[in-house]
Formats: sequence, C-alpha cells, structure tokens
Amino acid sequence: MQSMLAARLHTIGEPMELEQVPMPVPRPNDVVVQVKACNVVPNLKNVLATYAEWFPYLPLPELPAVFGLDSSGIVAEVGEQVTGVAVGDRVYVNPGLSCGGCRACRRGEDQNCDAYTFMGYFAFGSEGQRLFDAYPYGGLAEYLTAPQRNLVKLPDSVSFEEGARFGYLGTAYSALRKAGAGPGRTVLIDGISGTLGLGACLNALALGVTKIFGTGRNPDLLDDVKAIAPDRIEVLPAGQAELRDWVQEHNDGRGVDIVIDALGPGAPADSFLHAVSSLCRGGVAVDIGGMMERPALDLFSMMCAQNSLIGSLWFSTGEAQEMAELAGTGALDLSVFEHHLFPLEKINEALDEGLPARHGGFTNFIAAPQHSTSADAR
Ligand SMILES: [Zn+2]
Repeated sequence: MQSMLAARLHTIGEPMELEQVPMPVPRPNDVVVQVKACNVVPNLKNVLATYAEWFPYLPLPELPAVFGLDSSGIVAEVGEQVTGVAVGDRVYVNPGLSCGGCRACRRGEDQNCDAYTFMGYFAFGSEGQRLFDAYPYGGLAEYLTAPQRNLVKLPDSVSFEEGARFGYLGTAYSALRKAGAGPGRTVLIDGISGTLGLGACLNALALGVTKIFGTGRNPDLLDDVKAIAPDRIEVLPAGQAELRDWVQEHNDGRGVDIVIDALGPGAPADSFLHAVSSLCRGGVAVDIGGMMERPALDLFSMMCAQNSLIGSLWFSTGEAQEMAELAGTGALDLSVFEHHLFPLEKINEALDEGLPARHGGFTNFIAAPQHSTSADAR
C-alpha cells in the first residue's frame, strides 16, 4: 500500500505528529488532490489551543485528525464517475462539505445545511463527524480527497499560494455579492487591513465598486491598503474621527451602500454600530468577522431607513469559481500578497514560533508539502 506524509494531531496540547498514513483512494464521485499549498489561517492556533473550550456548537473532529482549511493543488486521481475534472487540473479545494440530501442542500444552499462542515477544521452541527469521517484529510498532508463538486479550477495565472488564500477571499466575495456590490456602489470595510478585510477590498475593486472606505487600527497598514488604488480607497485609523461624518465628507454627503464587518473577535460592538450608522438609506451591512460583543442595534431607525443586516458564512463553490475567473482576467489583483512558505515537516515549529512579523492581511502563511518519497513512488 502506498503511503503519504500527514501532520496529525493525536493529543490536545501536544505537537502534531508527522507520520506516514495510507494514500487515499477516491470513491466514485471524489478526487484525490496532491496538495501544493495549504494556508495556515490565523485562527488555526486558537482552535488548537482552545480545543476543550472551543464553541460546543462548532464541533471539532475526533482525534487523530489532519487539519488544514484552505488548500490548492493538482488533481492526482479521479473516481470512476468523475466528469469535468481531470488528472493534472490545477484546483482550489472548497473545504465546505454538506450532506447533499437535506432541504437546504437540494435547494443548492450548501452553507445552510445542518451538517455543514469544513474539512480539516470544524463543523457547524452535530452531523459534522460523519463528514469528517468521509473526508478525513485537511491540507496538512501530501494528498487529500474531496467531492468533485468542491473543486474550483484555477486559471494558469493564479499561483497555488494565491489559490490557498481563496477561503478568506471567497468569504469576502460572497458577502459583497449578497449586498449587491458593483459599479455605482460604495463600500465601507471595518477592519480593511486584516486578512478578511483586505480580501474584501481587493474583491470590491474587482467588482467595480466606485469607492471603498476602510478603517483599521494600524495607520501604516492602512496607508499600504490605500496605495493599492489611491483614487478609489479612503482610509481612517479607528477612532480618529466620527465615522459617519468622515464617510459623508468623502462621499458627496451620502452614506455608504454597503458595510462589510471584518473585525476580529476582540473588537468592540461600538465599532460595528458606528459602521452601521454610516449606511445610506437602503444600505446593507454584512458581518463576516469574529466580533463577539453583542451590539445594541437601533432597529427602529434601521427599519425607517430600510437598512438590513445579514450574516454571511463562507461561499459557494460557484462563487469561488467566479472569483477565480476574475483573478484570471486580472480584474482581481492578487499580486499584493506576501507569501511565506515553510515545509509541511516544520508545521509544529511554525505554529510554536508564531508567524513571521505579520504585515496585516498582506501576509500569506503557507505550508507546502515537498512530495519527496511518496510522490516519486506514484
Ligand atoms: Zn444538507
């Protein structure tokens, strides 16, 4: 039996074990992908450190488990019923798994499935373990399996490192699409220089949004974001001015059409309330961040102004394919990312020592299997 290298967590609080496990064999509708890049997302360390206290409604996989949320690579093998995907295709693997049979799945709303599960990460319901068992490989392994319907074909101009960023990028893309982002619209991104926020900025530019406003804590990072498109991006360090007034001053006296909240878990609810107060009539706020405080929303004034608020989780594979093609045309410019690669064998050191001094959302931290022995054996 052929084997492959995988980093598996056996015991909470212990390092992952680098070990040989059997090479996966695809079921009829599945593919095996040779992982070329796996994004070590900023939250992975939190998940591993807080395993016991992690949200009970977001079940983690039973151990031992292979983690790794966002992977790109090359299709190495296809099941006998797979069509439209061929060995050698360059792909991003959407890690979002759904049951396929419930009402939400049959409507094509995968993220609303009660069993929705991120392979290599965590689940959103009690049925998650069944899907972890069906697709037990995250991207911290040389190969993983995935349903063919989860594959996003990458244009030749999109590198594997850029492809491994599609999770956070796609989350922002889906939020912008749900809010109707496009030409003639304006967007405020709360937390624009972070991993999610920068993705929202790049996608808003790609979708033709007229003007993008952004807030953040670090003025230097904000300057770097503004430099991406100085004519279309305005930035404001958090707390430096009344957000609503500042937006109107730079937007012909109007509020924004869309607010994307991309703030992290520790963000105060007030920052979200300030962002919502910057909406124009009919404006939409979308939360994709991790803010844990509970904002006291003024629903009466939101009703009067026809403002709405939605939560948006992840994206559909179709949305990720659209985004890939925007990147292929050059409209979505991914060249701003700074990729830091390390070999899969160094995952424990990488998690222990922390990331190199992060340049906000510009940093892309990538584990890259080296495909030495087992790949040569194929
Ligand atoms: Zn379902």
